[in-house]
Amino acid sequence: MSEKKKKKKSSDKGSKQPWYADGLQFQCTQCGDCCGGEPGFVWVGEDEIEALAAEMKITVDEFEYQFVRQVGRDKSLKEYPDGDCILLDPETRKCTVYGARPIQCRTWPFWDSNLKKRKDWKETCEVCPGAGQGKLYSLEHIEMTRKEKSV
Ligand code: SF4
Ligand code: SF4
Repeated sequence: MSEKKKKKKSSDKGSKQPWYADGLQFQCTQCGDCCGGEPGFVWVGEDEIEALAAEMKITVDEFEYQFVRQVGRDKSLKEYPDGDCILLDPETRKCTVYGARPIQCRTWPFWDSNLKKRKDWKETCEVCPGAGQGKLYSLEHIEMTRKEKSV
């Protein structure tokens, strides 16, 4: 391989950008769809549980007793029998702890699984009416959000 080709290859590698380098649009319509429906998990770490308990002005023990279930070694928020998150107001369909909602909720829709390929994002837009419209988020913001994990 010539020197020229080698150089080109290394500069291509350095400039490789994700497919969403120009940013992505998202503006939650607060439809509540991602907080309900099919059963699932909303993972919560100790710090998140403390923040949620403080938001509700109850003790950590009381919060865990009412709203948290053990799943193996991890903890998830409980659900109503229909699959809705226990912290979703059944009437208004709004989160009752929005200011302290867990990282999993705050980082949606910029999850690894939604960003792998364009088609993954397209599928996300099909289930979330807020994805793909409204405010434009920069690549930097998306990457920061994507890497945020529950502890
Ligand atoms: S599905 Fe999307 S638009 Fe609806 S509440 Fe969830 S994030 Fe917001
Ligand atoms: S904590 Fe709030 S934002 Fe998260 S799933 Fe439950 S209701 Fe939705």
